[in-house]
Amino acid sequence: MLEAARETGLPLAVRGGGHSIAGLGTVDDGIVLDLGGLRDVRVDPQTQQVTVAPGALSADVDAATVPHRLAVPLGTVSRPGIAGQTLGGGVGWLIRRAGLALDRLISAEVITADGKRLVASATEHPDLFWGLRGGGGNFGVVTSFTFQAVELPDPVLGVSLYTASPTGAGHWSPSSGGRGTCLTSSPRS
Ligand SMILES: Cc1cc2nc3c(=O)[nH]c(=O)nc-3n(C[C@H](O)[C@H](O)[C@H](O)COP(=O)(O)OP(=O)(O)OC[C@H]3O[C@@H](n4cnc5c(N)ncnc54)[C@H](O)[C@@H]3O)c2cc1C
Repeated sequence: MLEAARETGLPLAVRGGGHSIAGLGTVDDGIVLDLGGLRDVRVDPQTQQVTVAPGALSADVDAATVPHRLAVPLGTVSRPGIAGQTLGGGVGWLIRRAGLALDRLISAEVITADGKRLVASATEHPDLFWGLRGGGGNFGVVTSFTFQAVELPDPVLGVSLYTASPTGAGHWSPSSGGRGTCLTSSPRS
């Protein structure tokens, strides 16, 4: 895809969860690299590290981490992608306890514009790592994010939102589309 963009000179937009309010995950008269189908989340309970594919939504991460009583501090809403949130900041319920999503990123696998696959972290390509955390996504295509999760304290407050069906009273559907935790938060202890 990157080669096609280079060869044709067409602008390329990378899309994770597709929730950029400014529409930065799409482009007119160009190529959209849509990573939305890649939603795998792997949790290592020993190291408390969570490795997330670039199309995962906040709900995907919560659904995988909460059974281990762990959380990655992401935004307050379940549907935005973790990619745009992490690359742009990520302000959520756990901010006072655990900071922004980008504070918890410990490494990212990145394909650069010239097609190189790199790992960026505090020790490998640290300048790229610095740019990825808050730079908004123009430093390459991130193919994997690894976070250091935080332990969830007791008690945890959960909220589920349901949408009324327009076809009649009494029919409700989960607004998260039934894909796991709708929203999790943790009160200050
Ligand atoms: C309803 C709603 C609620 C929100 N709530 C919060 C909140 O509580 N806290 C908060 O911090 N933000 C919140 N946001 C903002 C949201 O975090 C940002 O819009 C974020 O960029 C969305 O990420 P995405 O992956 O869904 O978006 P996308 O549109 O897919 O991408 C956003 C940007 O990241 C780039 N990008 C995406 N994936 C990659 C990748 N793999 N590699 C390189 N670049 C990539 C895109 O090119 C684009 O520039 C909210 C937005 C909406 C619409």
